[in-house]
Amino acid sequence: MERGLSAVNREKETLIAKTKAAGVVGAGGAGFPTHVKLNAQVETVIVNGAECEPLLAVDAQLMERQAEELAEALAHVVDALGAETGVIAIKGKHQAAAARLQEAAAGWDRLRLELLGDYYPAGDEHILVYDITGRTVPEGGIPLSVGAVVLNVETLLNVAAAQRGQPVTRTYITIAGAVREPVTLSVPVGTTIAAAVDLAGGPLVPNYRVIEGGPMTGELISQEKLESGRAVCKKTTTGIVVLPADHWLIQQYNVRLGVILQRAQSACCQCRLCTDLCPRYLMGHDIFPHLVLNAVNHGHTANTAAITQAYLCSDCGVCELYACPVELSPRRMYRALKEELGRRGARNPHRRESKARDSWLGRQIPVAHLVTRVGLDEYNIPAPWSEVQFSPRQVVIPLKQHVGVPAEPLVKVGERVEAGQVIAVSPPNKLGAAVHASIPGRVQEVTKTEIVIAGE
Ligand code: SF4
Ligand code: SF4
Repeated sequence: MERGLSAVNREKETLIAKTKAAGVVGAGGAGFPTHVKLNAQVETVIVNGAECEPLLAVDAQLMERQAEELAEALAHVVDALGAETGVIAIKGKHQAAAARLQEAAAGWDRLRLELLGDYYPAGDEHILVYDITGRTVPEGGIPLSVGAVVLNVETLLNVAAAQRGQPVTRTYITIAGAVREPVTLSVPVGTTIAAAVDLAGGPLVPNYRVIEGGPMTGELISQEKLESGRAVCKKTTTGIVVLPADHWLIQQYNVRLGVILQRAQSACCQCRLCTDLCPRYLMGHDIFPHLVLNAVNHGHTANTAAITQAYLCSDCGVCELYACPVELSPRRMYRALKEELGRRGARNPHRRESKARDSWLGRQIPVAHLVTRVGLDEYNIPAPWSEVQFSPRQVVIPLKQHVGVPAEPLVKVGERVEAGQVIAVSPPNKLGAAVHASIPGRVQEVTKTEIVIAGE
């Protein structure tokens, strides 16, 4: 029997309210508050299980281990949003997980599985939506612009837990690279990255560096932050990649922008590879990375309109780490330009409808090639699941683990808190997310940026 509109609205309101109370944010790295994302009218709900970053193995293992929960959670979201279809997108190479998901999805109306090729960046929301629906997200748009909402695997499981009253207190991570025993497990939010590296048996080399996130889009953690214990696992942390300090990737991350610009003056041969392989260019957007370094070198940044194409860059890293034969980085330039545009108060003017270019299919980057190109072959080994329930003696919980404004503390130094207790909330009418204690203990420190809890 068809449900009435008011029943759908009530179900949606409850879904959103519980998701908000639990502090759910995009766990795949973006950190967009999920309750805001769910407040939408869509045709298709897509579970993003593409996990295209090399070495990371959270989503594939979660999908295999929790296939039934995932299908049930998706069916609930599809119902609550009044959507037509729910799609679970997974790479075809994960055969065991795909088989379990196929079986689990068969138990629900309107759910289906979509098998993706093993290319990078299959998990980019624009690319994924195009793969699943055949629709191109316009410039400056989001999947909602073409009737879709995309949820990462862990995010959807967190939404399901939120409906049972469970807030986000733990995060799933893969610890990989130059560690003794690569592993995938969950840790309390606020666990230091140094402690997480130890959970993988510790580094293989004495002089190492750590990337939080995947090798293509992650953030290089400074040694100072790592050693101070202020570098921690957040709700959005999906991986920790340890590499020798002299590894090519670490050197690329460390090159200063001024040096890149200087090198570009003599080394950029205008081969256009960075543009021809740029996934957003291939989606038909007006982004031309081969022009940006020279444009900056010729002083064109004063003209705001000439640099707003920076807003179209997804930060995927293809131009910098895969395409450019002389190791230049249009991506880094676009990042700097985005900051500059923010300072000027310039908004993204690009809103053009676009159409994926015909060359897209032939220019998808096989992950195996990418792994070799970025020097990760020797680390490309399984990071198996572990049920270890790590309980740190102390957690440092950031107040901003999401897009929007930082959460405001509700607790004071000396106060006792339980795991799951809300300790900070977003200010009224501001974009943000609630933050919860991830371990029981006593509040040791409250600052504008974090809350430290000592376990008891
Ligand atoms: S990082 Fe480079 S390849 Fe990726 S979207 Fe930006 S310009 Fe294009
Ligand atoms: S790929 Fe490198 S050398 Fe070629 S146009 Fe782009 S920045 Fe210049």
